[in-house]
Amino acid sequence: MRPEVIVIGGGTVGAAIAYGLARRKLGVLLLDGDDGDFRAARANFGLVWLQGKGLNMPEYQRLTRRSIALWQDFEVALTETSGIDLQYEHNGGLAFCFGEEGFEARRLQLQRLHNQLGHDDADWEMLDRAELARLLPKVALGPKVSGASFGKHDGHANPLCLLAALHKAVVALGGTVRSQANVREIARDGEGLRVSFHEEVVTAPRVVIAAGLGSQALARQVGLDVPIRPQRGQVLVTERLAPFLPLPASGLRQTGEGTVMIGATQEEAGFDVSTTGEAAAKLSRKTVDLVPALANVRLVRQWAGLRVLTPDSYPVYAQSQSHPGAFVALCHSGVTLAALHAEALAEAVMAGRLPADLAPFHQRRFDVPKAA
Ligand SMILES: Cc1cc2nc3c(=O)[nH]c(=O)nc-3n(C[C@H](O)[C@H](O)[C@H](O)COP(=O)(O)OP(=O)(O)OC[C@H]3O[C@@H](n4cnc5c(N)ncnc54)[C@H](O)[C@@H]3O)c2cc1C
Repeated sequence: MRPEVIVIGGGTVGAAIAYGLARRKLGVLLLDGDDGDFRAARANFGLVWLQGKGLNMPEYQRLTRRSIALWQDFEVALTETSGIDLQYEHNGGLAFCFGEEGFEARRLQLQRLHNQLGHDDADWEMLDRAELARLLPKVALGPKVSGASFGKHDGHANPLCLLAALHKAVVALGGTVRSQANVREIARDGEGLRVSFHEEVVTAPRVVIAAGLGSQALARQVGLDVPIRPQRGQVLVTERLAPFLPLPASGLRQTGEGTVMIGATQEEAGFDVSTTGEAAAKLSRKTVDLVPALANVRLVRQWAGLRVLTPDSYPVYAQSQSHPGAFVALCHSGVTLAALHAEALAEAVMAGRLPADLAPFHQRRFDVPKAA
């Protein structure tokens, strides 16, 4: 049967959009690539996070707030359809500060973001060391820790459960998921669009390109030139520990299973997904400065993944002029934005038109004339 929408890319972004479309009863075909592809969705840290995001782009702060406001209902509906527990917790989150200077710098950064948003109520606060220690009674903080910022709307989820749930729900809602379906070509076909992968050709009135780092080549075919680059992030995982960290922190979170995730680096290493001893040493040092007792804990895993970054690191949502019905969706916080992708973005794709509040995310913002 001819699908109504083809979504290209089965990472967290593509799968969330496909799920949102399937929930709206559209016939969806989700095409995912080959085993060797770069997959940020399988490498990520699992934060559903607001604090500290959106400097110089208040629209991004608003977008993130919208997604987080939708997350709880999104989780309930997705768990009901898929039967998979996303382990979503949303009791706030922490960003630790080292030294008085670090504490003051963080406070100023959050105040600046707050001013740029023009919002009355602050949904974050700075906790000094004594307040932080009261919040984390089972953590013996290192001597350099001066406190933390606390973001009221922050939380975390299990990103692999989220991905599995989205794929399962697409199928449960009548959609089709195809793996090993690396799309080579998108072309106009009468009123619709033709998508070719391996020996197959499928047509549909709408196509969403959400193929992470594979998106640039596909988007060019529909007249959208989206600049993206990979940024490597490495993560360490410890053995299982008794629960001690009740809140996730940027860089440190205890999972539902008891393991502790430590990360993530930000490295310009091209498409190299190797793990390095240097990153492991750097992450371990920072963690031991934070919680010295973690020096005695066994590390059981280290992995590297590539973030999908635009020049300003904010998302791109765009619609093709030359190929009506073709959209592109890219971002580097696919877990945080999953609820928005399944709701507002899926709604927009269904309507065939991106709404005005997504206009600031068009990639034309990068078309700054170069000096002669
Ligand atoms: C180390 C690290 C930590 C992170 N931590 C967080 C976090 O805490 N919170 C958060 O919100 N986000 C986090 N992220 C980001 C998050 O993982 C991504 O935003 C998310 O995975 C969405 O990525 P994606 O779906 O765009 O791309 P990917 O997950 O990379 O998926 C792209 C998919 O497209 C497919 N594909 C590519 N080319 C083609 C083609 N031609 N045809 C068909 N399919 C194709 C690939 O096979 C792949 O499955 C993190 C990322 C990294 C690397």
